[in-house]
Amino acid sequence: MAKMNESFLELKTNYLFAEIANRVRAFEEANPNPELPLIRMGIGDVKLPIPQMILDAGKKSLDELGVAEAFRGYEDSGRGYLFAREAVASYYASFGVEINADDVFISDGAKSDTGNIGDLFSPDSVVIITDPVYPVYDNASIMRGHRVVRSNFVTDELPEKADIIYLCSPNNPTGDAYTFEQLKKWVCYAKKVGAVIIYDSAYEAFIQEPDKCPSSIFEIEGAKECAIEIASLSKNAGFTGIRAGYTIVHKELMLEDAKGEKVSLAELWKKRQASKFNGVNYSAQRMIESALSFEGQQALHENIKYYQENARIIMDALTELGIKFTGGVNSPYVWFKCPNTGDSWEFFDFLLNKVHVVGTPGIGFGANGAGMFRLTAFSTRENTTEAMRRFREKIPTVRNS
Ligand code: PLP
Repeated sequence: MAKMNESFLELKTNYLFAEIANRVRAFEEANPNPELPLIRMGIGDVKLPIPQMILDAGKKSLDELGVAEAFRGYEDSGRGYLFAREAVASYYASFGVEINADDVFISDGAKSDTGNIGDLFSPDSVVIITDPVYPVYDNASIMRGHRVVRSNFVTDELPEKADIIYLCSPNNPTGDAYTFEQLKKWVCYAKKVGAVIIYDSAYEAFIQEPDKCPSSIFEIEGAKECAIEIASLSKNAGFTGIRAGYTIVHKELMLEDAKGEKVSLAELWKKRQASKFNGVNYSAQRMIESALSFEGQQALHENIKYYQENARIIMDALTELGIKFTGGVNSPYVWFKCPNTGDSWEFFDFLLNKVHVVGTPGIGFGANGAGMFRLTAFSTRENTTEAMRRFREKIPTVRNS
C-alpha cells in the first residue's frame, strides 16, 4: 500500500475553527430561540459588499468573454496579465515604493502563496514563525517536513541559523503592526543569517499610522534582497469570495544551490507556478485593476473606515472595562487577555453561553496565545455596538465575582 506523508500526522488541522463550530452548534441546539441572538465576531471574514465600480469591471470582463474577438483563454505568462501587474506597481508607487510590474505575480489569494512558497526551499530548512500565528505558515511548514522554530513578534532570542522567516504585519491575531525600527531589525537579522522573509501584508490597508508602521516591507532598505511580500485583496477589497492577491519577488533575491551557486528565487517561483498553477481568472484580474486604481481605493476607503470604526467601538468598551488589549488601531483585530480567567476556552464558553457572542480563543493561534482572545471588527455596526453593550453589562459581573 502507498505510504502517507507522516508529517501530516503532526498537523493540528482545523482544530480551532472545527472546535468553535462544534461548541456553537451545541449552544444553538440547546437554545433554539435565545433571548439575545448570537453575534459572531470570530472568523475574520468581511461583511460589506464590493463597491459598484469594482463589480462593474468584473461584469464588463465577463461580457468580453462572450465576444469572439475579445475572448481570452489561458494567460500565457502564468504571472498574471500585465494590466493587473501594472496596477499593483502603481498602487505601491502611490505610497512611495517602487515596484517593477515584472516582479509581480498575480495569485488567487495570500493563503495559497504563503502555503506554497516553501516548495522552493531545501527540505532541511529551518523556519521561524512568530507565535501566536496565522496557522497556515505553521501547517504548510510541517507538511513539508521543515523544522519550525517559534519566536516572539520582535527579534528576541533568535536562532543562529534560519532559512525562512514568516512575518505578518499588521498581525493576525494580535493586531500589532511592526514599526520601521522593528522591521529593520528583522531585515538585518535575515541578512546576517542568510534567511528569506516571507512578509504577509494581508491587512496592510488597515494601517492608520503610516509614519510609524510601514505598509510594505520594501519600505525598509535592503529588503529587496532578503524578502518577498505576499498580499491579498480579501480584507481591503472584500475579495474573500472572488479570490485574488499578488506576490512580489524582486530579481535581486537569491537562494543557493548545493554547489553554492546563486539561483534567482523569482525564477524558481515562476517554475513552481508554471508547473502547479494555471493563473487567476480574467475577471478577478480586471477587478484587481479596478480595486487598486485611485478611484477604487477611494471607494474601498469607505469600507475600511467602517471596520476601523467598529474596531474603535471594541477598543472603547475594553478600555472602559479596564481590559488591556493590542491591535484595533492598525488592524481589524483586537487581542486581549481573557478577563478573570487564564484560559481562552473558558472565556470562549462564558462569552458564548452568557453573552451570546462568538470570538476566537487565543490558544488556537499557538502556545503564546494561551489566556488570550481575539475579536474581529469585520462585523456590522449594529452587531459590534450590541456586542459591546453586552460586554459592558456582563463582563464586570465576572471580573468582580
Ligand atoms: N494572511 C493572513 C494573515 C490572514 O489572516 C488571511 C485570512 O484570514 C489570509 C492571509 C488569507 O488571505 P486570502 O483570502 O487572500 O487567501
